[in-house]
Amino acid sequence: MAHLRTTTRTPAQPAPLVAGIAISHPERPIVQAPGHTKLDVVRYHERIGAWLLPHVAPRPIAVVKCMDGRFDDCFFQKHGPRGRGDDEESPPFMRIADVADVVRAVQNGSYEFHTWGASFPRLERPDRITLDLDPDTELPWPRMQDALASVRALLDRLTLRAFVKTTGGKGLHVVVPITRRHTWAEAKAFARGIAERLAGDDPALFTATVSKDARVGRVYVDYLRNAEGATAVAAYSLRARAGLPVSMPIDWSELGAGDIRGRNYSIDNAEATIAQRRADPWADYDRSRQTISGAMRRALGI
Ligand code: ATP
Ligand code: MN
Repeated sequence: MAHLRTTTRTPAQPAPLVAGIAISHPERPIVQAPGHTKLDVVRYHERIGAWLLPHVAPRPIAVVKCMDGRFDDCFFQKHGPRGRGDDEESPPFMRIADVADVVRAVQNGSYEFHTWGASFPRLERPDRITLDLDPDTELPWPRMQDALASVRALLDRLTLRAFVKTTGGKGLHVVVPITRRHTWAEAKAFARGIAERLAGDDPALFTATVSKDARVGRVYVDYLRNAEGATAVAAYSLRARAGLPVSMPIDWSELGAGDIRGRNYSIDNAEATIAQRRADPWADYDRSRQTISGAMRRALGI
């Protein structure tokens, strides 16, 4: 079989190193994001790391993994690696400390980073409330703008400062940083109070009910993200969807313009968008932890 040995083969290229991690299949195309390769996705994470890490490193995370550069074969992975002892259970979350960890996760097939609403070490005390606004897929942008204005007006009345980001999908996330004084049950009850007040005040636009039927022509305010172990996609995370959209923090004023949902922010423009901004719309996030007061609860009737 000598002829097999003499067949000319392209000499194996050494795997490129990114943040010290060897990247296999760097040229593998991302099928649903034409023009992009696995190495592009890795490099996005290397460059966006300074923005992504403050959102993922302090928190338990889960990832969406996809195989072979295709987004039709993805799964949600919550558990971290098992401990050394045979009887040790794997923790119900993963953890990322630095850019090398992010790059290693991407090398291993992760595209999306999702986080808990609590930070280490106090995982029993949530530090944010996430209102996941899930519109009917057909809901026109002006109705979504109405919904966001109503959410903001209610939070203003409650004297709560909130931050908004795209999801890279059909909706948006409104995030309220809170002090770590409340239980998960209290945070969820409060988020539910907000959702039910919105639906009570404007039942034509909002629903607090998970059923798909109730969502027709409306925005479902999903308050169930506010539970131990529940996740929401992290700011600056990609989404494993066509065009590699990004969950992008935005300023409330940006909602006044055109539709920013879906692929408006993506791997193609996220870094330029950040570079062109005069200020980080979430700059005050860490300074904005707020305590849920009795007056706020009473205002919601809870
Ligand atoms: P969209 O704007 O399209 O709704 P989204 O990220 O909010 O985007 P949802 O389907 O509303 O998507 O899910 C909200 C959050 O719930 C996600 O960000 C994710 O963290 C979590 N989630 C979604 N699917 C799963 C799943 N299969 N297993 C566990 N958690 C999930
Ligand atoms: Mn959603």
